[in-house]
Amino acid sequence: MLDKFHFAADQDVSGKICLLRVDFNVPLQDGVITDDTRITRILPGIKRLADSGARLVLLSHLGRPKGQRIADLSLKPIGAYLAQLLGQDVPMIDDILSDEAKIQCQNLADGEIVMAENLRFWAGEEANDNDFAKALARLGDVFIADAFSAAHRAHASTEGITHHMPSFVGDAMAAELRALSDALVAPQRPVVAVVGGAKVSTKLSVLENLVKKTDALILGGGMANSFLGAQGIDMKASLSEPDLFETARHIMAAANDAGCELIIPTDGLASKEFAANAAHRAIANELLDEGEMMLDVGPDSIANAIAAIKGAKTVLWNGPMGAFEIAPFDTATVAVAKAVADQTKAGLTTSVAGGGDTVAALNVAGVADDFSYLSLAGGAFLEWLEGKTLPGIAALMK
Ligand code: AMP
Repeated sequence: MLDKFHFAADQDVSGKICLLRVDFNVPLQDGVITDDTRITRILPGIKRLADSGARLVLLSHLGRPKGQRIADLSLKPIGAYLAQLLGQDVPMIDDILSDEAKIQCQNLADGEIVMAENLRFWAGEEANDNDFAKALARLGDVFIADAFSAAHRAHASTEGITHHMPSFVGDAMAAELRALSDALVAPQRPVVAVVGGAKVSTKLSVLENLVKKTDALILGGGMANSFLGAQGIDMKASLSEPDLFETARHIMAAANDAGCELIIPTDGLASKEFAANAAHRAIANELLDEGEMMLDVGPDSIANAIAAIKGAKTVLWNGPMGAFEIAPFDTATVAVAKAVADQTKAGLTTSVAGGGDTVAALNVAGVADDFSYLSLAGGAFLEWLEGKTLPGIAALMK
């Protein structure tokens, strides 16, 4: 799959004006960045390009201004923060459609960096308007896509622009594509997936795709309750979606047809209250009392999950095994995540995780750095797991 792309790392960018699409859509509170992971992840790629003599024009979106100029969604604080990290000025281009913008880009020296103001201040960005894409393209010589997390959207700066200039895959996106390829396209077998989270309804397409691609699928979280319900077990007050029992049965049949072993919890931590340190007991699913809900998978299920992971050469993870935000219902998530981390550190398993609350869950387990790859992309990662073609990736294929 990777041979379908041209990578920025293989290009001579010296003296070229490179439009670099990044994802600086970071959480801001009163103009202060509260989590800079997305910026620090992409920083080495920015530095490498600047050191190679590229003249960089950074393109990003922030929030949902819907074509309006909204002061709170300005990228200025992010430009200032980046300048600090890089130790060099990062001036803003205030109006990318203006003549001054063109002049600013043409006046860049090798290694200099400017940042365009929030692209979603212009309606043409989200509309993937061809004239807007052309207007962006006129600013530079080449386009480098380095925002995997925005690649599931066909917007002017992720898709449209690629039709107007030579386009390459940036370093961070290359790492993401490599990890996803290792996990799903050409993985070492056996491949075991862990899928948890709140609801089946948000994971249907992921499950349908993964049963076809993996050797075993460990189910956890509230989602697993619907599979148990589908098997005729009364899950009492547990989160579950009875209208999806039939769908769950189809997924079980599809897994069977595809030779994918479904590992469904046999026990859990039951409580009458969704709260930290609530009174709870570890019981088999069938023993739930009225008013009790399963908030985590139980010790037997953890052991089954870990046994499956120990036999895996590749592990793919999306979604927590339980209500990990409230102890002790983080127990299974932590135990299983640690097992994956240990296997990875021992060089026995390639592990790729991402989507939704997965990053937060692995942080709670303290193993976020011990997986082979942790994706920061939410929607784009999930759509990849669903087997969808992402427009911002398809546009970069040869
Ligand atoms: P998702 O965004 O689909 O990955 O779901 C993550 C959310 O699912 C987290 O907020 C968890 O607290 C919640 N969750 C996981 N397991 C359960 C459970 N057994 N009962 C209720 N909520 C759960």
